[in-house]
Amino acid sequence: MAKAITWSKPASKALRAAGVRVAELDTSATPGFKGDKRAGAELLLERQAVLSDLQEKLYANGRSGDTRSVLLVLQGMDTAGKGGIVRHVIGSVDPQGVDHAAFGVPTAEEKKHHFLWRIRKQLPKGGQIGVFDRSHYEDVLVVRVHELVPPEVWGKRYDEINKFERKLVDEGTTVVKVAMFVSLEEQKKRLMQRLERADKYWKFNPADIDERAFWPAYQEAYQAVLDRTDTDYAPWHVLPADHKWYSRLAVTELLIEALQNLKLDWPAAQFDIDEQKKRLAKA
Ligand code: ADP
Repeated sequence: MAKAITWSKPASKALRAAGVRVAELDTSATPGFKGDKRAGAELLLERQAVLSDLQEKLYANGRSGDTRSVLLVLQGMDTAGKGGIVRHVIGSVDPQGVDHAAFGVPTAEEKKHHFLWRIRKQLPKGGQIGVFDRSHYEDVLVVRVHELVPPEVWGKRYDEINKFERKLVDEGTTVVKVAMFVSLEEQKKRLMQRLERADKYWKFNPADIDERAFWPAYQEAYQAVLDRTDTDYAPWHVLPADHKWYSRLAVTELLIEALQNLKLDWPAAQFDIDEQKKRLAKA
């Protein structure tokens, strides 16, 4: 059998946000991976097993008192494929080690608090992989585009977010930020599918069509996010997302890298192994 095609460079490098112009992004590209859909699917299976093993190590260490965690922040316009990442990437690891949170329009209670209030409540505990399907970045994206608060308010949030993430990282959370981009045409195709398939109607929201008129404003808002919150401690990854198989492969790879950087080992036994073997033999 031919050797599986692998990445030509680490996904974190291939997807670096530095210097990216959102409006000029080729959303059908597959940076860092030269294979096709089939090769991608083949490699994904292999890498999911690696991710699952690393995740179990993180979880095991968490059970033994390690306070470190990983937080995957997924941002993207409607149909960009955030849900698919949660199902197909996160779905491949043990659910007891995953803290998943989706952030929609803030509730009346949430609106009374600072925008990071609801975010803080959902941060992953030690040993967990947290997944944010949308996040605090909505407060400088949809909020900015639709002027839900005055510019003086959202304008300050970039620095607040950086400060918040700095603290998070200092406290032991590896933050993996992924901004997913599809083209306007690909979005139309995906929305149309939702109208043509009974199993997709539930995903369709008529307001998604109206949002398409704000595409340039969203691109600008995303650009500002990349320009102002791409830090060395919590960098952004820009993911061209027209190919779902590539998105899944890339996020799997980003998580593997993040977990490998933690240099995890299996926690040592908290008991005398020989003694326990002897006891068990007699039991
Ligand atoms: P999805 O569309 O991702 O399936 P929902 O329909 O539950 O999920 O909610 C997402 C909507 O909530 C999006 O339109 C998003 O822009 C909006 N939203 C998320 N956070 C905020 C926020 N802080 N302020 C206003 N709207 C928000």
